[in-house]
Amino acid sequence: MPTRKKKPKLAVFKFASCDGCQLSLLDCEDELLVLADAVRIASFAEASSRVLRGPYDISLVEGSITTPHDAERIREVRAQSRVLVTIGACATAGGVQALRNFRDVKEFARIVYARPEYIDTLATSTPIANHVKVDYELRGCPIDKRQLLAVLSALLSDRKPSIASHSVCVQ
Ligand code: SF4
Repeated sequence: MPTRKKKPKLAVFKFASCDGCQLSLLDCEDELLVLADAVRIASFAEASSRVLRGPYDISLVEGSITTPHDAERIREVRAQSRVLVTIGACATAGGVQALRNFRDVKEFARIVYARPEYIDTLATSTPIANHVKVDYELRGCPIDKRQLLAVLSALLSDRKPSIASHSVCVQ
């Protein structure tokens, strides 16, 4: 009897972001049902509390790196991901939170928080590609859901997505 092929595992990870790009995936409606049938959703906090362990076939990463913990976690995500796709301006360029890169972040913390000594943050907000190898980047704020579906569809059919690949890691 032929063995049934295991469905690929898809995981969605959030870093510093507003969740808008993840919501673009939920906004796919009918296409999401087809996608949900084609993959095992291993981690997608916006849609389910279920989390499956890696490794993951495809990881979508939303958000930028703004804390020491983020910097550590993205390396773990990379190590567990066969293909890593960053989604949105936060993940690909640092997002609006990168405005801090031009000022003293400690000064901001003093103004915003009553107890700034409890804030553990990096001086900058940086894109994911500054920390780990990224396979594909989807830009936009939020991303275009049709582009996301086209990339997922290509990856699930073992085709190369027709967007610019990104393999630069500066660290
Ligand atoms: Fe939200 Fe825009 Fe960042 Fe996406 S890129 S998470 S929509 S702020």
